[in-house]
Amino acid sequence: MISPADEDLGPADVIIVGAGLAGLSCAFELAERGQAVLLLEAQPWVGGRTASWTESDGMRVESGLHRMLGVYRAFPDLLRRAGIDPDAAIIWEDEVEFRQPVPEPPAVFSVAPLRNPLQMLADIVGHNDYLPATAKLSMSRFVAQGLADYAADPDALDRKSVLEYAVEQNVQSAVISKLLEPLVAGIYFVPAAKLSAKVFMALIAPYLPNAAAMRVGAFAGGMTEVFAAPLAEAVRRRGGRVRTSARVEELLVEGGRAAGVRVAGRELRARHVVLASSIRATQALLAAKFGGEAWVQSLLRLPTMPAVTLQLELEGPSMNVDHTTFGVGTSLACFSEQSRTTFRGLAGRLSIIMAPADELIGLPVDRVLTIALEDADRLGLVVRDRVTRYRMVNHVDDFYSLAPGHDALRPPQITPVPGLTLAGDYTRQEFVATMEGAVVSGQLAARAVLG
Ligand SMILES: Cc1cc2nc3c(=O)[nH]c(=O)nc-3n(C[C@H](O)[C@H](O)[C@H](O)COP(=O)(O)OP(=O)(O)OC[C@H]3O[C@@H](n4cnc5c(N)ncnc54)[C@H](O)[C@@H]3O)c2cc1C
Repeated sequence: MISPADEDLGPADVIIVGAGLAGLSCAFELAERGQAVLLLEAQPWVGGRTASWTESDGMRVESGLHRMLGVYRAFPDLLRRAGIDPDAAIIWEDEVEFRQPVPEPPAVFSVAPLRNPLQMLADIVGHNDYLPATAKLSMSRFVAQGLADYAADPDALDRKSVLEYAVEQNVQSAVISKLLEPLVAGIYFVPAAKLSAKVFMALIAPYLPNAAAMRVGAFAGGMTEVFAAPLAEAVRRRGGRVRTSARVEELLVEGGRAAGVRVAGRELRARHVVLASSIRATQALLAAKFGGEAWVQSLLRLPTMPAVTLQLELEGPSMNVDHTTFGVGTSLACFSEQSRTTFRGLAGRLSIIMAPADELIGLPVDRVLTIALEDADRLGLVVRDRVTRYRMVNHVDDFYSLAPGHDALRPPQITPVPGLTLAGDYTRQEFVATMEGAVVSGQLAARAVLG
């Protein structure tokens, strides 16, 4: 906690608000280049949407099920430079499952073309009981056309939803219900009708020149413990200061320039301020000082969208294998057993991303648990009567809305206010709302600070 007598809060070169991946990445880059940084985080732990923590009853909880994608470059590179071995932090799974309500057959797809090329080919050509060959062909044509349109005019794709776009491209309805909808709900918590076609293609586009990078990895422990806290430690080793439980209440502006922030009633001064705080917090801090100025209007209009996660401790594993699973046609949009990966040592541990988030977020936790257990039964998961502890972790306003028409509202990192820079996955970078995007945004912000 920040106290009025805290002497460790003298002037900094740069104050960074928010220790999610964007703030941590920005702090690391600046500290690495000799800047005296002060990183301020509202929560008692670092990591933001990638945080993990232990609840008062001892249950270990995470912000939500996360997957490292093999196509990410900036994030693993940051880990390496901070002295964190990505190979120790990540357990590559190399397959994903699409599970339908029983007795419909599931489909497990290999996603590791380099490590298992024949299996991947067999999975794509095979699984005809899940999707007929003609349906798979219509999906391939859709992706090929989508990537071409994304390269030619990405903003045109932001004017329609991925569902509208798929229908326009004659994608078969079985592909929409068994592949497109589960993927969109599992990755972005919304139905395909509410996701911009640009955002969908943005996630696939990086694989185009680099199919070998098509891999999916789980973390080998809670994310704060595996990478966020070690990143904060790397900032400290480079002379930076990191303070948790330090919620910034106000941005200080003097003579038209950002001059610092106010925390717990105390003014902290710096040459430069980077707002890497959650989108809603940043909007509020900016509205209070620049609400009437033209440059900030688009950002103030950028809406948010929710995410809902449910995490269950169980008497035994819910599935035979820990791997990423999409629950086709159910509220269990994306889930994984984690007792052999992220939460080893537990008898059973299921982490679930629930959808549609906007309908579930207002419901009491017991109601969401009931819905999840009913759908777990339909999917044949061994969960009912085995739950020992559970938590729902909601993100009401943490994501910028990925619906059509919103991409253009995302701001660049650089602002017209001297001494003020923005970071966060919602700021302009190619990797949309992902860990990679957050890291890249932090690096772009650091570059802006250094001029
Ligand atoms: C359930 C879920 C699943 C996800 N799955 C994946 C995945 O599989 N793969 C992937 O790549 N990405 C995934 N993501 C997205 C990824 O977590 C985010 O894109 C990324 O972590 C965003 O980082 P950020 O630093 O931009 O924002 P955040 O992590 O939101 O950081 C903002 C920080 O600012 C702090 N803050 C807010 N207000 C203040 C204030 N006034 N003063 C000080 N601090 C403040 C917040 O506490 C927070 O720590 C997922 C996210 C969720 C929620």
